Amino acid sequence: MMRLFYIYLVLTYYQSQIIIMLLFLFSILTMIYLETLCHLFWDCNIVKHFVMEVHLWLMSSIPNLNFELSKKNFLFGCPQLNIPCNNIILLLKYYIYRCKMMGVFLNLNAFQNHVKSLIVTEKFVAIQLVKLDTFTKVWQDFIPLS
Ligand SMILES: [Zn+2]
Repeated sequence: MMRLFYIYLVLTYYQSQIIIMLLFLFSILTMIYLETLCHLFWDCNIVKHFVMEVHLWLMSSIPNLNFELSKKNFLFGCPQLNIPCNNIILLLKYYIYRCKMMGVFLNLNAFQNHVKSLIVTEKFVAIQLVKLDTFTKVWQDFIPLS
């Protein structure tokens, strides 16, 4: 009787192991095949919330900013938006992708630092190319972010 019970225990143990393994395999397959760019950059609730947070930060830091955020604008960039907004969208997508790959949480402070270094780099390049006035013209409104 005891022996039967032991066999039963071993079998259920292995069964649960197999179920866990199958679930693990399924989650890997889902990650490989069902993760779309739309989900990664927009449809995902975590990402969408973060993008809204960044948008809110931009709108509150820069007065009179004309930056309409939509799925199409965000996924493809937008010629109607100015250069800094498109640059920040690009940087944001790179940041989201990097966080996903490194398995770290999205963080507004960290992203704000990325934007700061983007602006500082743009300014540095402009100084090197003796095009500081072009930089100032394009990035003027965004300088408070740096
Ligand atoms: Zn998701």
